[in-house]
Amino acid sequence: MSHSQQLFEQAQKTIPGGVNSPVRAFTGVGGTPLFIERATGAYTFDADGKQYIDYVGSWGPMILGHNHPAILDAVISTAQKGLSFGAPTELEITMAEKVRELVPSMEKLRMVSSGTEATMSAIRLARGYTGRDKILKFEGCYHGHADSLLVKAGSGALTLGVPNSPGIPADFAKHTLTVNYNDIQSVKDIFADLGDQIACIIVEPVAGNMNCIPPVEGFLEGLRSICDEYKSVFIIDEVMTGFRVALGGAQAHYNVKPDLTTLGKVIGGGMPVGAFGGKAEIMDYIAPVGPVYQAGTLSGNPIAMAAGLAALNELSSKDYHTELAAKTKQIAEGFKAAADRQKVPLAINYVGAMFGFFFTEQEQVNTFAQVMQCDTAKFNKFFHLMLEEGVYLAPSAFETGFLSTAHSNADIQATIEAAERCFAKL
Ligand code: PMP
Repeated sequence: MSHSQQLFEQAQKTIPGGVNSPVRAFTGVGGTPLFIERATGAYTFDADGKQYIDYVGSWGPMILGHNHPAILDAVISTAQKGLSFGAPTELEITMAEKVRELVPSMEKLRMVSSGTEATMSAIRLARGYTGRDKILKFEGCYHGHADSLLVKAGSGALTLGVPNSPGIPADFAKHTLTVNYNDIQSVKDIFADLGDQIACIIVEPVAGNMNCIPPVEGFLEGLRSICDEYKSVFIIDEVMTGFRVALGGAQAHYNVKPDLTTLGKVIGGGMPVGAFGGKAEIMDYIAPVGPVYQAGTLSGNPIAMAAGLAALNELSSKDYHTELAAKTKQIAEGFKAAADRQKVPLAINYVGAMFGFFFTEQEQVNTFAQVMQCDTAKFNKFFHLMLEEGVYLAPSAFETGFLSTAHSNADIQATIEAAERCFAKL
C-alpha cells in the first residue's frame, strides 16, 4: 500500500472524505488522492516521494511556481514582526494601491480571506446598493460556496453531481436566476421580464469551473450594456482569471469594465486571500462608511498581504504574461496535435495561462451543454495514465489547467510526449 493510500485511509476517520475541499478526494476521477509532501517550481512531490509536473498549482495561486523565493522571503520576514493584529497596517494600503494600479476599475477594495468571501460580499453589496434581491449567474460557473451562489454551480459541485446543494433554503435559491453561459439572448430575455428586480450579474469572464470556456465575442460587452440599461451591478469574478489571463485580469484582456471585481488565488501568492472592489460610489456602501455589513478577524492579515504583494510585485516586474500565453498555447496545441496523431477526438480551449481539453467529436466547446456532452470516462482514464507518467492534472474533467512561469519548455515538451503515450492507450 502506498503512503498516500495509508494517509487517505487514516484521514477519512477524522476528516469527511479525508479532505478539506471535495475535488481533492479524486471523487470525479476515482482512485486515491495524492497526499503532497512538498513542492518547488513546477513540481510537486507526493508522500511516496514521486515527482510530478504540476498543472494544478494549488488551483491557481501558484502562477510563479511553488515556493517562489521572493514570496517565501516576504512571508518569513513579515512573520518575524507578528502574525496578526486585527488592526490596520501600512501593508494593507500598499496592497490596495498595487491592486488598483493593476486593475484600475477597482477604485476602492477590501481584502478578505478567500474567493468565497469575496463573491459573497460583492453580492451582498450589490443587493444593498440596488435594493434588489435577485441575482443572475450562469450555469456551470462557480463563485464559491455561499448559499446564493451554489445554484447550478460548477467545479466540485459539478464533479460530484450536486450543482444545487441540499442545505440551501428554496427561499434563498429562488432569488438566484441562472442562464446559459455565452448566450446573451438568454440574459436579454430574463432581463426583459425581471430586469428591475435584478441586483447584479456575476460572471466568470473565462469560465474555469466547467473546464475552460472563454467568452464568445460580444458576450461580456453584452452583459455590460444590459447592466447599464437596467441599472444592475456588473460583477466580474476574477478569482481564477485575475493576474492570470493577463496582468490586469480578463477585464484587461477583453477590455470590459465591471462595476465590481472579485479576486482570489494569485492575489494571495499561496496564502488565503481574496478581495472585492470596484466603483468608489458602490464600495462606500460598505461598513463603516455605509450600511452594508462585512468584516473579518483575519482580513488583511500581514503574512497574507506580504505574500500576495510579493507575488504581484514579481508578476508586474516584467512581461511574464506574453511568455505564459505562449507556453499555454504550446501545451494546448501540443495536446491537440498528439491526440490527432493518435486518432483521439479532442477539442481544446486556451487563453492567457489557462487551458482546457475535451474528449469529444465536437469541433468547439463553448457552452455548458457542449461540456456536458464530453466523454468524462475517457478523461478519467487519461488522468490516471498521466499520473503514472508523472503529470498532475486537475482531477476532474470540469476544471481548467493552470500554467506557471516555472514550467520550462522542457517540462511542456515532456508533458506533451507523455500525453501522446497516454492518448495511444485510450
Ligand atoms: N470564484 C471563482 C471563479 C473560483 O474559481 C473560485 C474557486 N475555485 C471561487 C470563486 C471561490 O474561491 P475560494 O475557493 O477561495 O473560496
